[in-house]
Amino acid sequence: MYLAELNWQQAEPVLKDPDTVVLIPVGSTEQHGCVGPLGTDWLIPEEFCRRLGGMDKVLVTPVIPFGVATHHINFPGTIDLGIETMIGVMTAVFESLYRHGARRFVVVNGHGGNDPAIEKAALSMYRRGAQVSLIDWWGIAPKLNPDWPTGHGDAQEAAAVMAFRPDLVNAGYLTDNVVNDPTPALRQVHINTVLFEGAPVKIIREIRDTVNTGGLGGLESKFATREWGTAMMDGLTEWMRRFILEFRRIPLPAKKWE
Ligand SMILES: [Zn+2]
Repeated sequence: MYLAELNWQQAEPVLKDPDTVVLIPVGSTEQHGCVGPLGTDWLIPEEFCRRLGGMDKVLVTPVIPFGVATHHINFPGTIDLGIETMIGVMTAVFESLYRHGARRFVVVNGHGGNDPAIEKAALSMYRRGAQVSLIDWWGIAPKLNPDWPTGHGDAQEAAAVMAFRPDLVNAGYLTDNVVNDPTPALRQVHINTVLFEGAPVKIIREIRDTVNTGGLGGLESKFATREWGTAMMDGLTEWMRRFILEFRRIPLPAKKWE
């Protein structure tokens, strides 16, 4: 079921049912390397939730298309809510649904920068007797198949978009990454991470000072294929389907914390 398609009389018993799992797709509108559309981070979660909306006792909310994109703001088109506003947005969405009876929430997230805000809002819900899970799909994908490595604005995300909106990944914009290592001994391996003596460490810089395209971390976008994206979206959808069934079995927390 999709919340936006129900009227309030139809929504009432669904939200009051303690077995209902509410799926909240969340993302960001931000630069995604040389070929990824600005909507990459919300288009993908929305697609997962569209596929999962037919499950019994699952209710999908409209997507939240903005997030914490402070580190991408110097690329045109990026919209940044900032972390405090994002905590407020997530809290307001959870609390509205809680008021109507919902107690089980799965956030299907497309953007790592949102994690601290979602987790802060989710912990407040736990203390009120609700249970929230946060699915960061890009980190699960390489666990399902090591040939699906993750990064930002590179092949993994481009492949995912190609699975359902191939028209949005325009190969005419493919550009090789020019990576600016801070020093020869500090090799930039992700938009904010370098390797020193083989170990990862964060060095905070403007991404435009780090890599020309804005995308870095896994394979470059030129390696994305629709076949990869299709297999990955299908595999992750089925993993999420199984996870949601298990998640529903968690006893709700006692409402003893404030
Ligand atoms: Zn992304």
